[in-house]
Amino acid sequence: MSLRTVAEPARQTPVHAEVDVLVVGGGPAGLAAAVSAARGGVRTLLVERYGFLGGMGTAGGVTNFAGLYGTRNGQMQVLVRGVAEQLLERIAALGGLNAPQDGMQGRIRVRSYDVSAYKCAADALVLDAGAQLLFHAWAAGVVMDGPQIAAVLLETKSGRIAVRALQVIDCSGDADVAHFAAVPCTYGDGAGNALYPSTMFRIGQVDAARAQAAVGEFKAIETLMDQAAGRYAFARRGAILRPQRNPSEWRANVTQLRNAAGQAANATDAAELSAAEVEGRRQIVEYMRFLRAEVPGFEAAEISEIAAQVGVRETRRVHCQHMLSGDEVLDGARFDDSIGLNAWPLEQHVAGGVQWRFASDAANAHNQLPWRMLVPVAVQNLLVAGRCAGMEHLGQSAARASGACFVMGQAAGTAAALRVRGEFTLAALQQRLRDDGADLG
Ligand SMILES: Cc1cc2nc3c(=O)[nH]c(=O)nc-3n(C[C@H](O)[C@H](O)[C@H](O)COP(=O)(O)OP(=O)(O)OC[C@H]3O[C@@H](n4cnc5c(N)ncnc54)[C@H](O)[C@@H]3O)c2cc1C
Repeated sequence: MSLRTVAEPARQTPVHAEVDVLVVGGGPAGLAAAVSAARGGVRTLLVERYGFLGGMGTAGGVTNFAGLYGTRNGQMQVLVRGVAEQLLERIAALGGLNAPQDGMQGRIRVRSYDVSAYKCAADALVLDAGAQLLFHAWAAGVVMDGPQIAAVLLETKSGRIAVRALQVIDCSGDADVAHFAAVPCTYGDGAGNALYPSTMFRIGQVDAARAQAAVGEFKAIETLMDQAAGRYAFARRGAILRPQRNPSEWRANVTQLRNAAGQAANATDAAELSAAEVEGRRQIVEYMRFLRAEVPGFEAAEISEIAAQVGVRETRRVHCQHMLSGDEVLDGARFDDSIGLNAWPLEQHVAGGVQWRFASDAANAHNQLPWRMLVPVAVQNLLVAGRCAGMEHLGQSAARASGACFVMGQAAGTAAALRVRGEFTLAALQQRLRDDGADLG
């Protein structure tokens, strides 16, 4: 970044809205937060920089819910309910939800979905809850009043506008609001290493049965890649290739995006993010060349969609009253201030591959998530939820999955409404979450 600057003239910014709760970012965390705050009976506005909800789940082309299922007493079962379950019901009603798929020798269970159905279901869920939506609104700054956020500044097609709110929930994934409000954040492991991003894509015209036999449960495709390694430039090992609801369409999670130093491309750096978009598409073209030529079932395959943006796994994480650690995930940690459960293992996207580490108790492979991981160490009227919440680098590699992000969002929205109504206590929050279907463990 240049050290040179220009001085901007001071300006008067129109106040677009005054609300009780402002949620910034409409991914899994943000949409769950907005639904829950609005159901708490307070005026809620959800702002989102794109024209649809879903975050990485739609814009990033993830097309798959992870972390909703985990083992309890030896049984694989749904551990994340509440708003997440209602969203899945709506996606299913639109014909866009796949049956559960097991993987990793039965240690994980996921649900893939259709992106368009997710977008439509999320709109309806948020609006039916009574929240307002403002799309194409990019949070670009805050105005502080001592230890409180007085207003969030948004860039829109109408120009710059301000929204005043009693409570703000940062669900931007990149901790943009917390960063603007000068709350301490850590990027990746603190030494410039974050989980590597990937550009997701979907592949059409796949011969499902032959492809399934060739890809196997990840190992077979690895062997094919190893055999072809001299002829193709693979960005990483650990290819994840899986069929969607229509089995002739597959999702591909195979790319890995680096910066010039070989570290994860930093999605909070404008130039690195831009270069990563180009590199992601280049890697996709190369991987398709491999699939068509080398993998049975993909001979006639076509790219059906490349995600609208690079899939970002990790950037800034906000310093909160509790930082969820990798050991807490692996050890199935329990907390008195539980707000719900994480059931996803550590999934580290490291240079050239993916490393998985599973909870030590295979029969109860989940951990509780504490309320304190949503409460920043500074700024009184701010909560944070989703992949930028209070987690250490390793803990985030697990609880960044959609399941835990829905849990955090539901808790943050519920808590913000209770705060606005002057009714917040930990016991009130936990009771309300249980009443609303959440499983606190
Ligand atoms: C390649 C990849 C594969 C993945 N695979 C899976 C998987 O199979 N299953 C699974 O469950 N999870 C998967 N994940 C993880 C999961 O998708 C994300 O961690 C999860 O979506 C995070 O939710 P979130 O709400 O915290 O943030 P995000 O989903 O990132 O949503 C943040 C939202 O905020 C908006 N936003 C950001 N900045 C601003 C701003 N300044 N102003 C306004 N709006 C803003 C964004 O547009 C976005 O809608 C994957 C992630 C990646 C990148």
